[in-house]
Amino acid sequence: MSFSSQSFSQEIVRALTECGYEKLTPIQQQAIPQARRGHDILANAQTGTGKTAAFSLPIIQKICDNPKPNSRFNVRALILAPTRELAAQIAKNIEDYTKYVSASVAAIYGGTKMGTQEKKLEQGLDILVATPGRLIEHMELNNVSLANLEFLVFDEADRMLDMGFIADMRTIMGDIRSQPQTMLFSATISSQMNKLANEILRKPKRISV
Ligand code: AMP
Repeated sequence: MSFSSQSFSQEIVRALTECGYEKLTPIQQQAIPQARRGHDILANAQTGTGKTAAFSLPIIQKICDNPKPNSRFNVRALILAPTRELAAQIAKNIEDYTKYVSASVAAIYGGTKMGTQEKKLEQGLDILVATPGRLIEHMELNNVSLANLEFLVFDEADRMLDMGFIADMRTIMGDIRSQPQTMLFSATISSQMNKLANEILRKPKRISV
């Protein structure tokens, strides 16, 4: 199955071709059509399966189909990742996928200057990739608004729980006033994960590879 058969725009297909992507991986085959239809998703997927493109490409296409001017501190899509390395990697992939479209993306995580990140947030962003702790620091300083969030992703959610981020996840969700399309990706789905999924997902499509 090719990316153009999924009716991604030419600009996105071109960027994916340059990344060396020709066919969808199994997780992408399952997740992309459901995400494009607007469903919430609970995906059981290991790293290395192509999960980043599975959740980010539908978001990128939807943002391009419905462009909005950036408004100060506003974020349209939030992707939460447990570690700095993963957040940086996701943002790098999204930069590659959005090479030929106009969608703004930034990553914020600990260990780098708050001030530089604040400047990026102030401009407003289409897609923000963040670790939970650093995002909350910015929320407390009113550097970011999740009031109009349209898309929310938890990547490697099991690692987030293992690392003790559950309270942070709840704090973040407590600030979201909209009802974003939400996708939860996890390498393992424990009973605690199912409980969390029941709380935060609405009629999710369950996917496993
Ligand atoms: P991920 O599981 O998202 O970390 O992706 C694992 C690796 O597979 C990364 O190097 C991706 O760039 C690559 N990848 C993702 N989707 C595809 C695809 N459809 N075709 C070829 N490579 C891919």
